[in-house]
Amino acid sequence: METTNDFLKDELTGKGLRPSYHRLKVLAYLHDVQSHPTADEIFAFLSPQIPSLSKATIYNTLNSFVEAGLARLISIDGLEKRYDAALHNHGHFQCESCGAIFNFKINIDRFAIDDLALFEIKEKDVYFKGLCPDCRSQGQKQKE
Ligand SMILES: [Zn+2]
Ligand SMILES: [Zn+2]
Repeated sequence: METTNDFLKDELTGKGLRPSYHRLKVLAYLHDVQSHPTADEIFAFLSPQIPSLSKATIYNTLNSFVEAGLARLISIDGLEKRYDAALHNHGHFQCESCGAIFNFKINIDRFAIDDLALFEIKEKDVYFKGLCPDCRSQGQKQKE
């Protein structure tokens, strides 16, 4: 998906957020990398381009995105907070060796969850863990 400035501005104003320069930069980065970066990774990438940027601004910006429903906070191991601007129905696979998080297509709505008929579901997350193809092939090489 191409992320033009107009698209990002519409995303922000559609959720009631003012399309400030910092918000546009952070949202563009989330859409472009799709690697589920941490706040520190976003700061490390953007701060050379935007000298006025502080870590507090990054945290505030990410919080406002999550509250507005523009990004999802994902924390598979419960420790590291990562951010995802891909809101379509998808699951996450985290590699236990390199820590990378991959998206995979899954129709979460097709799961029959009769046990929760009386519950209000606000979020559906599907997490898988294992080894990514790169780490698998490295492991195989080491065994040889
Ligand atoms: Zn890996
Ligand atoms: Zn994702």
